[in-house]
Amino acid sequence: MNRAWIELDPEALEHNVRRYQSLLPAGCRIMGVVKADAYGHGAEAVAPFLEGLGVDHFAAATLDEAVRLREYGVKSEILILGYSAPSSFPALAEYDLTQTATCREHAAQLARYGREHGVRLKTHIAVDTGMHRIGFQPEDVEEIRRCYGSGDLRVTGIYSHLCVADTTEEEHVEFSVGQAERFRRLVDALREQGVDLGTVHLLSSYAAVNYPEYAYDYARLGILMFGVKSDPGDYLREDLQPRPVMTLKARITSVREIGPGESVSYGRIFRAERPTKIASAAIGYADGIPRCLSGGKLRAIVHGRYVRGAGRICMDQLMLDVTGVENVQIGDEAVFIGREGECAIHAEELAVNSGSITNELFSRLGARLEGRRFVERT
Ligand SMILES: *Cc1c(COP(=O)(O)O)cnc(C)c1O
Repeated sequence: MNRAWIELDPEALEHNVRRYQSLLPAGCRIMGVVKADAYGHGAEAVAPFLEGLGVDHFAAATLDEAVRLREYGVKSEILILGYSAPSSFPALAEYDLTQTATCREHAAQLARYGREHGVRLKTHIAVDTGMHRIGFQPEDVEEIRRCYGSGDLRVTGIYSHLCVADTTEEEHVEFSVGQAERFRRLVDALREQGVDLGTVHLLSSYAAVNYPEYAYDYARLGILMFGVKSDPGDYLREDLQPRPVMTLKARITSVREIGPGESVSYGRIFRAERPTKIASAAIGYADGIPRCLSGGKLRAIVHGRYVRGAGRICMDQLMLDVTGVENVQIGDEAVFIGREGECAIHAEELAVNSGSITNELFSRLGARLEGRRFVERT
């Protein structure tokens, strides 16, 4: 690896998938959510690996992501969770993708295309049970039934999404149960009218652990499948014992000694108080290291010891204070997420210290990062 890269742990991912499978009620399968390049881990490696473990349904955010999954060899069903514009409808048919109908108007666009081109596009109906992001209203039973019966559409599933499934606060638990019950009433009403709903799904990572009683055919699993909580304070009813899949490393590119009073990096915010050894690493904010971790809020592991960032994080490089660490040399590795020896840095730490969640941290990891492949741990 040249400058900065991601390594994936196949045993960790397999462990997380098996844990989830054993936790989910019988009849509920895993839908692998691999949007945003598999949460930055790299969908090219992750999706085929999951398929090899028996995951037979995937979700992407956009048409381009879904097409790429096909190019990576994914044969399973692929659901696009977000909106696709009519200009992209031909690709839906060409790559055998399933498009979410984000509302009545979108369903009408999909149906019109079907009518004009003689292809019934595969569609899942999104239902807005309270998040108010996308979806039909739960009261739109007639409208949804018509979509299922339409000769211009092929509705193969229906789903909704819970928006506060990660806490025990009474108000939020009530809200989640309300969402789930609205969805259940809709599902029951449609079934009573004889509609074959196809694939029904409601739960995501946290909801699958905290509300398994509302499992249907699939649970859409993202962040926790990668072994990481969004925020360390989030509530999980069961201890999943998730194992982080990602290690993020960069090459040490240069080492120098500076004297007391000398400064490091832009803005000179780091001042050496004593003789200090500074190592530069080939990773920066363009690679996804949050710049707001400048000023010593970033940790790394070098030669099995924790070190701190020194000064401002640059676009493509950052500096580490490696004073007291022996034999640091050009070409050595620094670990930013992962473990080495007794030391471990969790993605949650970077997320919390940068005022965000791991989902955002991961999805901003840059395209320049190399690797994103499975590496057997030695
Ligand atoms: C991103 C997303 C998921 C996955 O969420 P996680 O919390 O990462 O498991 C599931 N469903 C929908 C609709 C999403 O947008």
